[in-house]
Amino acid sequence: SSAFANKSYAILGLARSGMATLDALHASGARILAWDAREDLREAAKDKAIIADPLEADLSDYDAVIVSPGVPLNAHPIRDKASDDGVPIIGDIELFAQARRSLPPHRVIGITGTNGKSTTTALIHHIIQSAALPTHMGGNIGLPILSQVPLAAGGIYVLELSSYQIDLTYGLDCDVAMLLNISPDHLDRYDSFDAYAAAKVRLFDMMGSDHVAILGGDDEKTKLALELIRSEGRVQNIVDSSTVLLEGQADWPSLQGPHNLKNAIAAVVAAEALGLQEHQWRPALESFKGLPHRMERMVEAEGVLFVNDSKATNPASTGPALGAYPKIHWIVGGLPKSKDLKECEPYFGNVVQAYTIGDAGPMFGELLAPHMPVDPCEMMLTAVQHAAGNAKPGEVILLSPACASFDQFKDFEARGECFRCAANSVIENDLIGT
Ligand code: ADP
Repeated sequence: SSAFANKSYAILGLARSGMATLDALHASGARILAWDAREDLREAAKDKAIIADPLEADLSDYDAVIVSPGVPLNAHPIRDKASDDGVPIIGDIELFAQARRSLPPHRVIGITGTNGKSTTTALIHHIIQSAALPTHMGGNIGLPILSQVPLAAGGIYVLELSSYQIDLTYGLDCDVAMLLNISPDHLDRYDSFDAYAAAKVRLFDMMGSDHVAILGGDDEKTKLALELIRSEGRVQNIVDSSTVLLEGQADWPSLQGPHNLKNAIAAVVAAEALGLQEHQWRPALESFKGLPHRMERMVEAEGVLFVNDSKATNPASTGPALGAYPKIHWIVGGLPKSKDLKECEPYFGNVVQAYTIGDAGPMFGELLAPHMPVDPCEMMLTAVQHAAGNAKPGEVILLSPACASFDQFKDFEARGECFRCAANSVIENDLIGT
């Protein structure tokens, strides 16, 4: 698009969304300065931008500095530098917002929350796709939004928005804005839990008063957000999706657990807000494939189901995972983010035995021992072997670690793949129930 012609931008961070931003701005004729700590990324950008460190450049005649959401703004010198030079710091979602006026008529739905963003975004995208409407999914999931070919008229952009992305966005007017839930997370990048919650609520400050706000949480902070938005009285259409009942709700194969029922309801409320009807959204709940590492029904053998929920990196996401099945062998631990497992406690009764792994192992062992048998395993393979040995037909072996993965793995995907390999190996070696 020509939305950025004759403008000047400095880009900090050239992985993924940064490189897509560079391409889009370059194509529309902007002047660009770009930088990344990685030499290979600077090399890849050199035909489209002046390569220089924005910390050492005079930014005063630039329109904006574009930083990737991975840059921790609370602890990065670019914040002071940009403010000294009087230039705003924005992200690729803000650029998308600015480019919207040159796009064919379309709508945008923005989804945020501590947990369930990707699942709900993918589900809404799937519902819209099933209804044969043009749609793209982007933001914190899939391809960067600026690298996707603009949708034809009538299209719907479904954007997953992390709080970091919202922090870098000022003018995104969502036709439907959704906040799923808020629980403590990412506190390394915010001054307080309140500041983290406030970051998410900004999504509603940006939206038009006649558009639809959906809040899904039964947690304290989301309820406060709901009260706040209601009391401000600016946004007219506000739905508390935690009070919505879905008739004829079935056990959708890729939406396991009470948390995914909430996600499904929020998605249905969104679909109806976009004008879709029940015959369009209901079959899509059934055919939704789900995302790997989120309550993924991986494999079943000897009547024992293996469920991979490696993406559960905090206790608030693991709690409802334990609510999904009555007899669980629970593999838990990693790099802990909290000193308790409060959100998991209501579901402890579903756990047959816990198998602890990683740094959190000893601490979780102490926490859990009064409530259930605990097997300290340290390693994933040990945990899977022990759990497989104990599991009876009808029981579930669940990896839902309630922790980050970085103590033993590159990321949550590597952890989930390790679980998958271990599961396949105990199945091949006939170790279930032995
Ligand atoms: P996000 O993109 O917000 O990290 P994901 O869809 O990737 O969310 O899911 C992350 C983890 O949270 C998974 O373990 C998933 O099962 C769990 N989860 C999904 N929806 C919810 C919810 N509504 N409340 C709590 N946990 C959830």
